[in-house]
Amino acid sequence: MKIYLDGKFVDQADAKISVFDHGLLYGDGVFEGIRLYGGNVFRLDEHLERLEYSAKAILLSMPWSRKEISDATCETCRQNGLQDGYIRLVVTRGVGDLGLSPWLCPKPSIFIIANKIALYPPETYTTGLSIVTVPTRRVNSAAFSPAIKSLNYLNNILAKIEAKQFGALEAILLNDQGYVAECTGDNIFIIHKGEIITPAASQGALKGITRSAIFDIAQELKLPIREADMTRYDVFNADEAFLTGTAAEVIPVVKLDGREIGTGKPGKITQRVLESFRRRVLTEGTRI
Ligand code: PMP
Repeated sequence: MKIYLDGKFVDQADAKISVFDHGLLYGDGVFEGIRLYGGNVFRLDEHLERLEYSAKAILLSMPWSRKEISDATCETCRQNGLQDGYIRLVVTRGVGDLGLSPWLCPKPSIFIIANKIALYPPETYTTGLSIVTVPTRRVNSAAFSPAIKSLNYLNNILAKIEAKQFGALEAILLNDQGYVAECTGDNIFIIHKGEIITPAASQGALKGITRSAIFDIAQELKLPIREADMTRYDVFNADEAFLTGTAAEVIPVVKLDGREIGTGKPGKITQRVLESFRRRVLTEGTRI
């Protein structure tokens, strides 16, 4: 496998980052997870815009243009002969000393990995996921904005571990006020009386690229969709639920905390959204 690392393509074994890189020492950096479908990179521009916003929010100035990053992303897929896969694009603060000071890191690093990903077992896309609410709360946006896709994922990792401890593959994280924020790496949607509902970014949800595609799909399918505060009560009383994410794609949810949602089977609207999503990813995107 060839990895793009700071302007060069190197073999996987030679793709190495310094132990003094603040991305490693402090999680000081930002990243994107991007999908490649049939030789098209799905919503690449939106991903690169979010990367720029994340970098700006942590005052990390990236010395590369969007075009340069976009070209490097496509070239990484080509170099690996990939037509379908998952791309991980990471920007770190770069090499510094052992103190926190980011201004002692003169040069950010960028690397791009193009590979495959399977977040959940394939059968869960037809049977639906059973998820749980975990004790770990979504990080408070006053402390650190959850809209920043940073290299600090311990909040999400702890929630993922707790989900496993409760025998589930995925978890709902509530925010510090008890509202549903999102899952460990996915946004959450419920369907109630024909309406699609998802928590707002202000409740601790990442502004997912797949999430925004769901708004376009709802428009195409003429289904009402809106952002709203969401509690566990709303999920328990929903007719259907599903999660979205670049790695997860669109996956039905049939149980929360041991309680069936709707009929306990993936719902009809979820199926329609999922089918529309699968069509859309093949036609939309940047050709590599
Ligand atoms: N929430 C979190 C915490 C995430 O890390 C992600 C991305 N894996 C998402 C939601 C979904 O966002 P996207 O659709 O852009 O992948």
